[in-house]
Amino acid sequence: MNTGANGIACRVCHSQSEALWTGTLLKRHAVRYFECTSCGYIQTESPYWLEEAYADVINASDTGIMSRNLGNARIVFATLLALGQMKASVLDYAGGYGILVRLLRDIGIDALWSDRYCRNLLARGFEFSESSQGKAITLVTAFEALEHFVSPTEELETMFSISPNVLLSTKLLPLNAPAFEDWWYYGAEHGQHIGFFRFQTLEFIAKKFSKVLISDGDSYHLFVEGRCSDVKWRFLKKSRLFLPLLIWASARLGSRTWSDHLLQAGKTK
Ligand SMILES: [Zn+2]
Repeated sequence: MNTGANGIACRVCHSQSEALWTGTLLKRHAVRYFECTSCGYIQTESPYWLEEAYADVINASDTGIMSRNLGNARIVFATLLALGQMKASVLDYAGGYGILVRLLRDIGIDALWSDRYCRNLLARGFEFSESSQGKAITLVTAFEALEHFVSPTEELETMFSISPNVLLSTKLLPLNAPAFEDWWYYGAEHGQHIGFFRFQTLEFIAKKFSKVLISDGDSYHLFVEGRCSDVKWRFLKKSRLFLPLLIWASARLGSRTWSDHLLQAGKTK
């Protein structure tokens, strides 16, 4: 589209994005930020520093990686229950080292891994590949990935082509955009976060892909096709329910820890 001298096209909805301010990433790049006048998405200028930012894919300041994955396993499980599809297959689209896939498989969930930018360390043998294309995936998950995507709409298009339901996590911007120095999520020290969503941005995505949006209004957002109870999802993802649900699920599903070992070791029993 035709944008003004101080604007660029929004990477989500392609409307006009207006210049906001400049922030310093990786201590040396003065980066311009823009705010979409239509969907509220805030984005950096075209990111030229990513090779440097991803010298280490998992950034060194990410100390929350393990506790976050434990929490995410709980939320995936809650989502499958809310969808009424506990035995369904899940693809972790931005699977990183494979921590979440391994945790889900330990619970008994048929989870697969994919990630174009990270090496699978913990879920080897359970990659989503050409051969698994025929498999029905009921839920695609992408935790802490949306804010990294250079082309978020295209990535979402790929995710929705794999599954009718997508569960995402990304921290939503407050209504008034915080100054660059006032919000840790801009990620000045690692430079990997290049786009920031508002609730209205998610609403735009839901409409574009004809999905129903269920969001906790903060970090977790679920796009579903058809019916899914908002109330049930919120209730099931409460942490105090996890242990009793886990015990119940273990009896119903059966952990895949040992059967996966046998499969990977090439043994039959
Ligand atoms: Zn936009």
